[in-house]
Amino acid sequence: MLIFREQAPLTAYLSTIRSRGTRVGFVPTMGALHAGHLSLVEAASRHADTVVVSIFVNPTQFNDPEDFEKYPVRTDQDIRLLTGSTADVLYLPDAAQVYGKGGPEPVHYDFGRLETVLEGAHRPGHFQGVGQVMERLLTQVPADCVAMGRKDYQQILIVSKLIELLHLKTKMIPCPIVRESDGLAMSSRNLRLSTPARAVAPELYKALRYLSMQLHELPFAELRSRAVARLEKAGFRVEYLALTTGDLEPVDGPVHGSQVLLAAAWLDGVRLIDNVAIGHRLLESTQRVAIPRP
Ligand code: AMP
Repeated sequence: MLIFREQAPLTAYLSTIRSRGTRVGFVPTMGALHAGHLSLVEAASRHADTVVVSIFVNPTQFNDPEDFEKYPVRTDQDIRLLTGSTADVLYLPDAAQVYGKGGPEPVHYDFGRLETVLEGAHRPGHFQGVGQVMERLLTQVPADCVAMGRKDYQQILIVSKLIELLHLKTKMIPCPIVRESDGLAMSSRNLRLSTPARAVAPELYKALRYLSMQLHELPFAELRSRAVARLEKAGFRVEYLALTTGDLEPVDGPVHGSQVLLAAAWLDGVRLIDNVAIGHRLLESTQRVAIPRP
C-alpha cells in the first residue's frame, strides 16, 4: 500500500493512473478504523481498480470542540489494518494539506432542507464542515466512485448533493451498516463507552428494530413514546427518533416506498446514531465482515 502525506504527489499519481484507464475508488474516513470502514474498502474494490482511503479528522465538521479533542487517533493500527485489506493507497494529510496554509476558507453550500433536519438541526454547522472537507478531498482524490456508509444516512444524502452542486462525475456507493454481534452499529466513538454503557448501547438498535416491526400495528407517535421511555430508562438521552421517507421527509406511519427510522442518543457522554431502513430489502441488509487482527 502506498502512503501519501502530501496532496500534490497523490493528485498527480491518481491523475496519471486514471489517464491510463484505471478506475479509482475513494473511501474517506476519520480513522480509528473498524470492520465498517473495511467493508467500504471492499465495496470500493468491487467498483474500482485502485482504492484510496483517506484518514483525516476534519476539525470543521465538529460542532462540539470536546468531541474533536477526544476523537480517537490510532494511526499505526489503522495502517496495519489497511495493509491487510484491499486498499491500495492511504492518504494521511494534515490540515494544511487539506485546506492550505491559510486554513479553511469560509464557504456556504446550499444543501436546502437536508441540512436543517435531524443531524443538521442538532449539530449546527456540521454538514457545512462535511461539505468543506469533502469538496477538498474529492478535488485532491479524483475518483470515479466514493464508498460511504449508511450508518451516516444523512451524510450520504449531503455528499450526493455536494457531488451534484460541484458537477462532479464521482458515483456514490452507499454501503450497508456493519454491526457488532449484539447489534450495535460499529463506530469509532464506541471506543469511548465505559464497560457498563457498552453493555447497554445495543438497546438503541433494538428500539429501532422494535419500531420497524410494530409500525403496521400501532401509531408511530405511540411507538415512539414507548421506545423513548424505554431508552431513557436504560440511561440514554434521546435527541431524535424519527420516521421519514428515504429523502428525510417526516412521516407519521407506514407509507408506500422506502422509509427510514433514524435516531441519535447520548449515552455515557457519547453521542450514538443509528438507523434502520424499511420497505427496501437492500437498505435493510446488515453486513458483517471479519476484521483482521492488527
Ligand atoms: P468516519 O470515520 O466515522 O467519518 O466514517 C467514515 C465512513 O465510514 C463513513 O462513510 C461512515 O458512514 C462509514 N461507517 C462508519 N461506521 C460504519 C458502519 N458501522 N458500517 C458501515 N459504514 C460505516
